[in-house]
Amino acid sequence: MIRAILFDLDETLFDHRRAVAYAATNWTESVSPGHPLLMETPALWLDLENRHLPAWHAGECSFAEQRRRRVREFCGRMGLAAPPDPDAAYADFLVHYEAAWSAFPDAAEVIDALAGDGLTLGVLTNGVPVQQEAKLRRIGLMDRLDPVLTPDSLGGNFKPSAECYLRAAAKLGLRPQEVVLVGDNLLLDAVGPTRVGMHGVWLDRYGSTPAAAPTAEIATITSLTRLPGVVRALGRVSAAPPWRTAGAGQARWPSTAAAATKRRAKPRRS
Ligand SMILES: [Mg+2]
Repeated sequence: MIRAILFDLDETLFDHRRAVAYAATNWTESVSPGHPLLMETPALWLDLENRHLPAWHAGECSFAEQRRRRVREFCGRMGLAAPPDPDAAYADFLVHYEAAWSAFPDAAEVIDALAGDGLTLGVLTNGVPVQQEAKLRRIGLMDRLDPVLTPDSLGGNFKPSAECYLRAAAKLGLRPQEVVLVGDNLLLDAVGPTRVGMHGVWLDRYGSTPAAAPTAEIATITSLTRLPGVVRALGRVSAAPPWRTAGAGQARWPSTAAAATKRRAKPRRS
């Protein structure tokens, strides 16, 4: 029986890419008007996240230091002068980033639908609590999700460490088998939790794979509106919501073991 659902935050409930695109272009325009590579800045910023956040996760640097590294490399790659105060430069970036915070359109809808099933609905994110909770408040979801779990409250353990998921289940007072984790990162939100007995659900919003998730235990959905159907299939019985029809965003279950061997987990920001 499924008793709780944990949502990843960035790129699952919260539209991080959209905010980054706005911030990267507007911040660059503010320091270098008319820069010829302006439209390449969102992809560069996301790439730098992927490459520098792991050092913080591994305890090799502070949260602030990985931000400084990202700003310095961003400026270097864009041919901009190195900022004399990287912290101040990052603060300027955050002004633009926070101006574009928004939820995905399906987030509130699916949370409200699942809340009617008596499930515990929370968040499991690799971010820092002060920023992640600020995002949830801004996008109107803070009052609908409890608990909001971060590595700070899980002994400093980040996804995809087994200890992170096990501590999260313990915080809920549940066994891992009673918990679903859904998120956009195949390794952090689907493969990792499945290894400890949780039910990982991969939210593949952008259709990055035409086939299937890597193991038969992992469902792939392209919209959160398919999540109630997945939860029902796992053993939580409830009335079918109106969207339980075939079509766009329908859950895809792995069809062959051969397809599974072709897939590789790709760490990404959470
Ligand atoms: Mg994420």
